[in-house]
Amino acid sequence: PLVLGIETSCDETGVGIVRGRTLLANAIASSMDEHARFGGVIPEIAARAHLEAMNPTIARALADAGVTIDEIDAVAVTGGPGLAGALMVGVSAAKALAVAIDRPLYAVNHLVGHVGADLLHGEGLRPAVGSVGELELPTIALLVSGGHTSLLLVRDLVSDVELLGETIDDAAGEAFDKVARLLGLPYPGGPHIDRVAAEGDPAAIRFPRGLTLPKDMAKHRYDFSFSGLKTSVARWVEKRIAAGEEVPVADVAASFREAVVDVLLTKALAACQDLGVPRLLLGGGVVANARLREVAAERAKAAGVELRVPPLSLCTDNGAMIASLGAQLVAAGHAPSGIDFGADSTLPVTDIQL
Ligand code: ATP
Ligand code: MG
Ligand code: FE
Repeated sequence: PLVLGIETSCDETGVGIVRGRTLLANAIASSMDEHARFGGVIPEIAARAHLEAMNPTIARALADAGVTIDEIDAVAVTGGPGLAGALMVGVSAAKALAVAIDRPLYAVNHLVGHVGADLLHGEGLRPAVGSVGELELPTIALLVSGGHTSLLLVRDLVSDVELLGETIDDAAGEAFDKVARLLGLPYPGGPHIDRVAAEGDPAAIRFPRGLTLPKDMAKHRYDFSFSGLKTSVARWVEKRIAAGEEVPVADVAASFREAVVDVLLTKALAACQDLGVPRLLLGGGVVANARLREVAAERAKAAGVELRVPPLSLCTDNGAMIASLGAQLVAAGHAPSGIDFGADSTLPVTDIQL
């Protein structure tokens, strides 16, 4: 089926068009620049930006795909989780579109959509790391972004996704953004920490690895915590400043990044091992981190785990991944969502479709 997917859960207005597993268009408008001066995503600004970007982004996706609106067989939209006001803009637009062209509407789970991104193939589309063939199931999926740090067990994309664990405080991307801020680096911090860390020594400072001590692993084996790490970095930096010493920014960035990467992969690979699932899929904006991809490749190989990382353009929030999941629901014969549903900002990952 030819499916148009709309994503507005955070600061990206994404409209993607797929034919089954073939990617035809992935148009994205981001309001990131408007949030930069506040050092974080401001929900009202994001919602307003989605409203302004929606029609032009739909038009661009159709033009890129070379299809007309009446050729679309089904519309998919992110129903949650995400920012309530932002989600509502996408859901309203999708409902209006589905009614106008008289096509079924599928409201889907954003996190499961990140996994759906891996199914897509298309011209010039190459995975960032790992294999090119079909995604085999079950797989463990580690989704890391500014809003989420979640470890999933995916047995079936349209009917069986389990949440193994998630962050109990800050998301990994959020930790990058907060530590960047205290090092005086611009927002969003991830890319800047990555750049600065390349010049630093990752072993210079041993920052804490949250929830990885044996007693924590017993209780929170698949959960994450990054707020203690952030506080530890802050204390370390404050001490240097108080002592009148210069802060070795590159070493701090490299050591912090190493700690985040270590925790993420320790937990993800523990899940692969415990559950006997020799596959790990990465998704979310933090996958742009060079060190995360590098260490993931090394450690997955050592553990005999197949690592899959979709192209980075499909790892950050986008409409194509939502269209991809929608296409799978259509192919599996699932009933559409109707038009009476509302966006659900806290939609659990087990609810694949609204
Ligand atoms: P959601 O959680 O709803 O998916 P989001 O907009 O926060 O929303 P993304 O756009 O996927 O998620 O990711 C943005 C996050 O990724 C930011 O926190 C940013 O700092 C982080 N990030 C981007 N590039 C890097 C990088 N190279 N290293 C580490 N973090 C990065
Ligand atoms: Mg974003
Ligand atoms: Fe996301």
